[in-house]
Amino acid sequence: MRVVAVEEHMATEAFLRVAHGLDVAAGDEAEMTVMRTVETTPEFRARLTDLDARLREMDALGQDMALLSLNTPGVQPYPAADAVALARDFNDALAAIVRRHPDRFGGLATVAPQDPAAAAAEIERIMGPLGLHGIMINSHTGGRYLDEPQFAPLLAAAEAHHAPVYLHPRASSLAPYRDHGMPFALWGYQAEAGLHAMRLILSGTLDRFPGLTLVLGHLGEAIPYWLRRIDSRHAYAAKTAGAADLMPHLSLTPSDYFRRNFVITTSGIDDPDVLGLALRTVGEDNIMFAIDYPYEDPATAISFLAHTPLTDRQRTAISHRTAERVFNLRH
Ligand code: MN
Repeated sequence: MRVVAVEEHMATEAFLRVAHGLDVAAGDEAEMTVMRTVETTPEFRARLTDLDARLREMDALGQDMALLSLNTPGVQPYPAADAVALARDFNDALAAIVRRHPDRFGGLATVAPQDPAAAAAEIERIMGPLGLHGIMINSHTGGRYLDEPQFAPLLAAAEAHHAPVYLHPRASSLAPYRDHGMPFALWGYQAEAGLHAMRLILSGTLDRFPGLTLVLGHLGEAIPYWLRRIDSRHAYAAKTAGAADLMPHLSLTPSDYFRRNFVITTSGIDDPDVLGLALRTVGEDNIMFAIDYPYEDPATAISFLAHTPLTDRQRTAISHRTAERVFNLRH
């Protein structure tokens, strides 16, 4: 079984040194206090930055490839000028790593949505001369979401340059998600990324950018669970006086966009029942394996992939074939 994992986080020492010295946006302070503490813990820092050790771990587990991305929330908490420069430097470093190990590592670049024009130019650079495989956006930027009009240049560039956009979680912009230990992976992450995806669907953004490919972790951030109800309530609201005035006209049903524009990954969900629901909802050609290194245990995730009940075709697609198509990985 060829194993390609697509949500595998890293950082460079240079990135962490610069980023940890920058001011963060208002509202991001609590999240960044936690993230900087985590990233400063020696063992965790080594797991982010030591890619030789990562290769040895991959070898021991039979993992063929990792699609690398910067640890959440990337450059998004920082002032625009700092974030643009930091993203370029990180992407140069990521491209150098991928060039050294093209059979083992792919790369999802980082961009700064704070400056949509600069992000668009960076997408052209990373998909062109840098030879990377897409971008990761860690949900909101200063409480703003990609369906808002100022981000159109970023989405247009991603569509034009065939850069899949991995819509990764970060701590929610909403206060009620911040109490009781909820802002991170326990609950807030999936609520936040699911919200972002639903905004892109219901705003009509995917009528404006029909060729965009969006990637969601956690087997679709619970959207497969809700999808039939979302379609039914969207159709009901669209013909209900009052409610319809609040909704943009869509040319497709919500589930049509979900099946056309989204690909989902198994990151952090080693649950055969949830995978079964995802398979019935979008099929194996829209599901990719992911570990979510270094937050999840690679051995557990790979064992789930190897042993969960699947047909050969399903296992082949999920373990590598869907990822090779979506990210245009060489093999
Ligand atoms: Mn992750």
